[in-house]
Formats: sequence, C-alpha cells, structure tokens
Amino acid sequence: MPDDLFQRYQAAHRAYQAHARACTSCTDQARCTQGTRLWESFVRLQDAYLQRKRPR
Ligand SMILES: [Zn+2]
Repeated sequence: MPDDLFQRYQAAHRAYQAHARACTSCTDQARCTQGTRLWESFVRLQDAYLQRKRPR
C-alpha cells in the first residue's frame, strides 16, 4: 500500500491549519474544542507515521 498514512497525516495537518486560520478562538496558547480535536488527530497520525518510518 502506498503511503496512505502519510497522506492522512498531511491532510490532518492541513485541516488543522485551515481551521486555526479561520477560527477566532484558536491561538498559540489555547484551542477551541474543534481545534483541539483536529490537533489531536494530527498528532496521533504524526506519531503513527513517524513510528512506522523509524526502524526500531
Ligand atoms: Zn478553533
């Protein structure tokens, strides 16, 4: 399977950035509920992606 995880991780990052740009509640210090959800899903995918890449 080509890098589906990478695609999803990039998409999650874009989704978060798009939200943060449009959202007036999200700042560097605090995130709104939706921003938090988008951020956490991005972090989870990033972790999964980085972990899979790295041969332990
Ligand atoms: Zn927000």
